[in-house]
Amino acid sequence: MLEHDLRAETARLLAGLIRIDTTNPPGNETRAAEHLAAYLAESGVEPALRGRVPERANLVARLRGTGDGPSLMLLGHTDVVLADRAEWSVEPFSGLERDGHVWGRGALDMKGQVAAEAVAFATLAREGWNGAGDLIYCAVADEEVGDGWGLPWMTEHHPDLVRADYVVNEGGGERITNGDRVAYRVGIGEKQCSAFAVTTHGKSGHASTPGASDNALLKMIPVLERIDRMTPPSRDLPELRTFLGSIGADGDPRSVLNAARTTNPLLAATIEPMLGATIAPTGMTASSKINVIPGRAQLRVDCRILPGMTQADIEGAVREALAGLEYDFEFLERDGGTMSPPDTPLFTAIEEFVPEIEPGATAAPVICSGFTDSHWMREAFSSVAYGFMPTRMDPALAGSLIHSADERIPIDDLDLAVRFFLHVSRTMGAAA
Ligand SMILES: [Zn+2]
Repeated sequence: MLEHDLRAETARLLAGLIRIDTTNPPGNETRAAEHLAAYLAESGVEPALRGRVPERANLVARLRGTGDGPSLMLLGHTDVVLADRAEWSVEPFSGLERDGHVWGRGALDMKGQVAAEAVAFATLAREGWNGAGDLIYCAVADEEVGDGWGLPWMTEHHPDLVRADYVVNEGGGERITNGDRVAYRVGIGEKQCSAFAVTTHGKSGHASTPGASDNALLKMIPVLERIDRMTPPSRDLPELRTFLGSIGADGDPRSVLNAARTTNPLLAATIEPMLGATIAPTGMTASSKINVIPGRAQLRVDCRILPGMTQADIEGAVREALAGLEYDFEFLERDGGTMSPPDTPLFTAIEEFVPEIEPGATAAPVICSGFTDSHWMREAFSSVAYGFMPTRMDPALAGSLIHSADERIPIDDLDLAVRFFLHVSRTMGAAA
């Protein structure tokens, strides 16, 4: 098949995937895996389907390399988040093609990438893969909820199927500007989600006689004030300097951030997570009855820390800020928080493609504030894993559609993505 036909092939495959409702929970990703398996089989590929339970299959396919070059995995997830039909102007599971876009839940996150990677992989299978290392295609279940049905289960139970030296996944490819400089974001790492709770204690009692009790909720006043005033631990991250250099924003990162806040929200939103930990109180529980003074109150705080920082750093800083107060402290989670170096052949391969997206543009490494499946690959196999699928769509528009109503992807972006996945596969296949 000619490469100019790949555009329609990708749009068709994506529409088919969108029509399979893989809302997680419950997921039911097996039908999506079977749809992909049938598609790949047309190009002579025999994928393996593996799942903890029959209805939640993960798919892996492999083209064997001719030598012992590095392996590359094209990774994606087949589950999607809930779509509320009432908010949509089209049926969310229709895969409708209209105005040059494919519409439906998952078009951007991330069945579009899953389809583009599959089409690139199938194309290389039809051509006859002669890369030095293996090319692996992997479409996993359960990324959105992360209850252990998807990639973490595969890395534990089928490591030989999913081990890879290099990985391209979701989490990058957006266009970012600074004046007349243009760059495309490459997600090289993710912050660790380290939410914590601060609990205060008192003595419960009837609210009609407050003097007879000790209100735990009031003890939160200084806790909240001090957490609001504290400066979260920061790091001088070399990758932030690299990022700023690649968009021509040299100088003090905090000044660049402050200037960007009003003029360039995307740039600000990219810089801020890379400066250090973020700490944001988001919820509190105390008495469930209006006439009962709480003997216990709990503040929940969202906290994200940079790779290289530890929870001990955060706990130390919080305890210092709350010195002299009485409270209990505990972490509620520890998820993600890994990074791959930006100076690798995979980064170079991405960099080489960027001028094809837009002449004069560069590739800019970023640390994302949320995490993706990439961290399972980094943890299990020390893979170099990046998030990248080039898109020319306005990042503000894309951001407003992901996990929201009227999600859609330009077919031009699908076409661009297939060309990128072909480029990155061939380039890494040629690497010694
Ligand atoms: Zn996703």
